[in-house]
Amino acid sequence: MNDVQLKELVEQVVRQVVQQLDVPPTPANKGKGDWGVFDDMNDAVEAAHEAFKLYKERSKQCRKEITDAVRQMTLDHKEELAKMTVEETKMGRVNHKIAKLVNAAKNSPGVEYLQPQAWSGRNGLALDDYAPFGVIGNITPATHPGPTMINNIIIQLAGGNTVAFNPHPSAKRVNALVIKLANQYMVRAGAPPNLVTCVKEPTLDTAKTLFNHEKVDLLSVTGGPEVVAMAMNCPKKVIAAGPGNPPVLIDETADLELAAKEITQSASYDNNVLCIAEKEIFVVDSVFEQFMDEMEKAGNVRLTSVQMDALAKAALFQSGKHWLISRDYVGRNANVLGKAIGLSLSDEVPLLYGETDRNHPWVVSEQMTSCIPVIRVKDFDDGLQASLKAEHGFRHTASIFTKDIHRATKFTRVMDCDVHTINGGTLRGDGGDLGEGYFSHTIATPTGEGICTPLDFVRKRRIMTHGALRFT
Ligand code: NAD
Repeated sequence: MNDVQLKELVEQVVRQVVQQLDVPPTPANKGKGDWGVFDDMNDAVEAAHEAFKLYKERSKQCRKEITDAVRQMTLDHKEELAKMTVEETKMGRVNHKIAKLVNAAKNSPGVEYLQPQAWSGRNGLALDDYAPFGVIGNITPATHPGPTMINNIIIQLAGGNTVAFNPHPSAKRVNALVIKLANQYMVRAGAPPNLVTCVKEPTLDTAKTLFNHEKVDLLSVTGGPEVVAMAMNCPKKVIAAGPGNPPVLIDETADLELAAKEITQSASYDNNVLCIAEKEIFVVDSVFEQFMDEMEKAGNVRLTSVQMDALAKAALFQSGKHWLISRDYVGRNANVLGKAIGLSLSDEVPLLYGETDRNHPWVVSEQMTSCIPVIRVKDFDDGLQASLKAEHGFRHTASIFTKDIHRATKFTRVMDCDVHTINGGTLRGDGGDLGEGYFSHTIATPTGEGICTPLDFVRKRRIMTHGALRFT
């Protein structure tokens, strides 16, 4: 599908939805902006600011109805959003994109997280409750443009905020469609227009406008090191979901079949674009070859070390001190990577894997694609040190397969990450259907919020009634 066809598909979907919804004209589709999509970032922020003035008068129950409308929109449009994402970004797999959209719709935490707290005593009654910040300036990644935007809309609107987005340029069409559909469904559920807005042609300049706009009260940023550093330089509160490079350590007590199956499911999911997905595997020497065999049994294709080097040469490059992956290789199917080194493989192959040393570009880069290095380590302690180094101090995600609870404890204490999994794929670590606990696409490691909920996007406020309304 070329650009013109893609644009026509978007317009056709929007037309169909508007007809089905029978939504009356509102300020959102008059004048500037098209259901929240604006040519100018300043207009996008102004519109979100006007929307905030109306939205802040709404009750928590009303916010629930409005965010439920976004959940419903996602379920109704999951197939076309998933297909469009793969067409536009060339990353990932359609079935996994659909699953991620369903997960964001079903499992993103909502207003139920905002439970007030009260204290009653001889001096009266104190009540802590939550108030919105205002307009949130939000940057979304190319790797899961729809689900991140939808998850962030739900958790940030649940807190009573409105949101102006600067989507990733390589996902601007699908993100504009999400904004339009979300506004249409929310208006139908009784919301004011423009609760969420975005700029049609996002660039680094529009991101700077968003960061520095006086009507943006809080920044919520998801992306690589560059965008996180830039946001953290802003004199505003920032919630930053930055990069990771999750290591897995497998010791000689581990269930190797389980480890291979779990890692295969998790690291191949949507071609490894998840920030929490395993990026390198350290295996204790005495069980190394057995583990490599189990990876093959799980359907993966083993590369020789020479092939790992050749693929690294094609896909990875050095920028200053860092190894990065070329955009053309992010989130690609294993057979596409295989083709680059002359292999003809089935589209069904989950991962390519092969032995490298611990300083190899495949280990130090956050590769986000269907190839994973496996490194021999002497013992548990050697593997722990190697894992610590490979994680680069991001403190994002790490996992271990072991039957020794003391080693698991030591691993999690030393790695000190926001997300750890023990004897399971890291995909299970951020909630959703495969894990436990609440889910979010925003794991704010650099700023310390961890897996975000609406509680991270509200101001805590207190009311104290002196000498009255006390029961004790
Ligand atoms: P990216 O850094 O290339 O882009 C993210 C966004 O930042 C885009 O909108 C881009 O236009 C913008 N941007 C980039 N440089 C900028 C700058 N100097 N100033 C202003 N804006 C800038 O990231 P990506 O490839 O879209 O996403 C992948 C990265 O995001 C990975 O590092 C991944 O680990 C991380 N990520 C983290 C989480 C988390 O929850 N911690 C979730 C998803 C993705």
